[in-house]
Amino acid sequence: MRLKECLEADEHFGAFYRPEKTVFRAWAPVADEVCVCLYHRGTDAEMWAQSGAEADGEKSAPFRCMQMQKKSASVYECTIEGNLDGVFYTYRITREGSTKECVDPYAKACDANGQHGMIVDLKKTNPRGWKADAGWTQRNENTVIYELHVKDFSFAEESGISEKHRGKFLAFTEQGKTFRLEKAAGVTKNGNTCTTPEGRRQTTGISYLKELGITHVHLLPLFDYATVDETGDGQDFNWGYDPANYNVPEGSYSTNPYDGHVRIRECKEMIQALHRAGIGAIMDVVYNHTYASDGAFQVMAPFYYYRQNEDGSLSNGSGCGNETASERAMVGSFIRQSVLYWAEEYHIDGFRFDLMGLHDTETMNGIRKALREKFPKKSILLYGEPWTGGASPMSEGFFPAVKANVHRLDESIAIFNDSTRDTIKGSVFYGESPGFVNGRAGLEKEIVSSFLAWCDGGHDFAPQSPAQSINYVSVHDNYTLWDKLVLTAGMQAYDKKEEVLLRQNKLAAGIVLSCMGTPLFQAGEEFGRTKHGDENSYRSAPQVNCLDWKRRAEFADLVEYYRGLIALRGQIAFFRDKTMEALSHVRILQAEGGMVSLLVDNASYGRQKWKHLIFAFYAGVTDTTMALPKGQWQVLADRESSLLWKQNGLLRKKYMAEKEIRLEAVSLCILGSTAE
Ligand code: CA
Repeated sequence: MRLKECLEADEHFGAFYRPEKTVFRAWAPVADEVCVCLYHRGTDAEMWAQSGAEADGEKSAPFRCMQMQKKSASVYECTIEGNLDGVFYTYRITREGSTKECVDPYAKACDANGQHGMIVDLKKTNPRGWKADAGWTQRNENTVIYELHVKDFSFAEESGISEKHRGKFLAFTEQGKTFRLEKAAGVTKNGNTCTTPEGRRQTTGISYLKELGITHVHLLPLFDYATVDETGDGQDFNWGYDPANYNVPEGSYSTNPYDGHVRIRECKEMIQALHRAGIGAIMDVVYNHTYASDGAFQVMAPFYYYRQNEDGSLSNGSGCGNETASERAMVGSFIRQSVLYWAEEYHIDGFRFDLMGLHDTETMNGIRKALREKFPKKSILLYGEPWTGGASPMSEGFFPAVKANVHRLDESIAIFNDSTRDTIKGSVFYGESPGFVNGRAGLEKEIVSSFLAWCDGGHDFAPQSPAQSINYVSVHDNYTLWDKLVLTAGMQAYDKKEEVLLRQNKLAAGIVLSCMGTPLFQAGEEFGRTKHGDENSYRSAPQVNCLDWKRRAEFADLVEYYRGLIALRGQIAFFRDKTMEALSHVRILQAEGGMVSLLVDNASYGRQKWKHLIFAFYAGVTDTTMALPKGQWQVLADRESSLLWKQNGLLRKKYMAEKEIRLEAVSLCILGSTAE
């Protein structure tokens, strides 16, 4: 079977629409008979919704079933004449006298809640101007990634997004939205001092993303996932790591989940809006398991798509009941073709692989190669979680794409760097366990390694270059950064804007945004996002998960700090160099006593404003003095402001330093020198 499998792995499957006929091709290696069934309607719920009639228990029935012809040992095909755009379909697989019906795993459109595929004329789903949408074409060297959930972004009323688009793809298309914080005597209801002038409107929505200066939005799963009822009232919530139809956008993010065209068009409109704002769109993909263990994969090819334990049961390396077997030819091919499809049809600029450690390095490298060949002008980002959710019986002869195997991955596949994450703010597994910024001593060497993207050798993983490191302190999993800082400080008040927490947060951001490699942060981290201690909010209420735009206004000073750091990073050529060679431009000045300071030679990168830079991260709780290398140093960022470098002539003098500089407790200091 192996050779045939490999040949078929290059074939394409699914429903291929043309105005005059549709060709169906299915892969069903052990079926006795395969039929394609056509339906006028998708879900029963749709019938009720459209007719306004009460549910009467009547199931929608196919208006036509056609037996497919066996083309080879595992491939079935048939052609149905006529224009089938908008027609729903399923496969019926008969094996050993029993028949099961399932959705086509290759379906490109589906009904509400995705039990039926839909034949679709994709041309009809392109928004105006889509052809001209080139995607993120700038080179990715300045990349700063923002991890965001579609619903979180605009669920809150304060987002200013129109009610019909709140929580939906189309929220991203609304420009110029703002929020104004009402306040009394300069103090908000949480007791926080308001930092913005009264009455000043703060941006929200896509205008805010633009202002923040991030280059890419990394969207939590936007493909069709299972557990949110798409026909519901919009109060359901899930992160979306429960995959249903891999090649279809999620229906609950569309304004009409019943008509399969709508979610596709609206998803494209979101991506187009991001591109128009100069922001790349990265998609979180979850090919490592499926929500159902008895769904389409299992009906089409029993036990082919999933790994098994020795006793024959499905293995559970994902912690979600099953795990796919990427090392098998047709599974690897399914994943690769799906990624290529999203990149081509939806102009996606990057992919983040959930539990990438469940995939084999060969599959991951194959995806990289295929993207490079297909899109030679784009640099599509690829990165993932280099771990699993449990023990996995991957076939012998393959290497899991875990952290320890990072050197086996293509150099342009990066990993979520949990070493940097835990060094900066403490372990995600022990809530009260602190890291460098929040009180744990003795982590200076690890902070140096973090700065160098752990490319300095001697660790239990060896990135080939800083390009392989995604640096972050918080994402959707575990406590938000703010909640983690509250816990490690032994506090309970998540809404109180404590000075000590602000300092720690700023220092954490300062380190992440100064490390070599690629920084990433969770949406709202920059305004002290809190889930009030909810450590795993994957299906908590949308009110717990959504971005709180009031807080964005309350924490405007912290937002400003992130904005300044992002912009400053963009000014420094050194950070665009993600090769090993770049490490030779770094000299360690100090790595003890809570102080880590590094000298960077930025002069080798052509004409640069600052020829040399010093990055100092100080976690001590009393003020200190740092000796400076010879020359005049301009303070570019300190504990208070990360925008000092933008101050003009008259002010600048005030921010010059020579010989030594005073650092306040828990603070960042970035200095630049214009001398050769
Ligand atoms: Ca869904």
